[in-house]
Amino acid sequence: MLRRTARALLGFVMAIAFTVGGVFLTAGTAQADGCYTWSRTLSPGATGNDVVQLQIRVAGYPGYNAVLAVDGSYGPATTAAVKRFQAAYGLAADGVAGPATQAKIYELQDNDCTPVHFTYGEHNTCNSTWAGGAVAAGTAKANALSTMWKLEALRRALGDQSIRVTSGFRSTSCNAAVGGAANSRHLYGDAADLGAGPHSLCTLAKQARNHGFNGILGPGYPGHGDHVHVNQGPSHYWSASSCGI
Ligand code: ZN
Repeated sequence: MLRRTARALLGFVMAIAFTVGGVFLTAGTAQADGCYTWSRTLSPGATGNDVVQLQIRVAGYPGYNAVLAVDGSYGPATTAAVKRFQAAYGLAADGVAGPATQAKIYELQDNDCTPVHFTYGEHNTCNSTWAGGAVAAGTAKANALSTMWKLEALRRALGDQSIRVTSGFRSTSCNAAVGGAANSRHLYGDAADLGAGPHSLCTLAKQARNHGFNGILGPGYPGHGDHVHVNQGPSHYWSASSCGI
């Protein structure tokens, strides 16, 4: 329940952030990015919505079998995630999100806040509204955004080759149409199915263990012989026996 509450809070906070971003735009404040602009260096001990915005974008760097809390508090786990993010992009890994780290994040995101290699459209081929799932549309969309940032980290770790998303958010009817489980995380917007491409399914499933996914299903798990499913659901469940997971 705590995680569900945190997830709802995340959606709420992001909705505020978008609103604030809009206000900044209309006020003519210089924007380093069309999505979000930090106004200070963020260091361990910092708190606030700007920390939340940072955590969303470095949540793909929690370390093996870990999930970074998006709680607006810059503690040790956030510091470690920032260090891993910095190392992944060749920046000085000091755990402080200063101008160089923020500039790298701006470079990595589109004006709608999605990371450059993933899109809302790709994560929702069900409808254009994000409605009809198990959570409010705005929450489903925020959950998808969070998943995209984790996939961006996964993509980076696997050498910047493309990752193909074959299914993301589903409304109840879309989920039923493809035979999805009744309690599928696709209904929440935080699940993504990944197809084979430059990487084998097992490579994707194994590497996903390092990027903040509580749910990983792949080859060896019933119905997952042709894709890897990752999600951010509250329960930890990994199963891809053909890959040794
Ligand atoms: Zn799936």
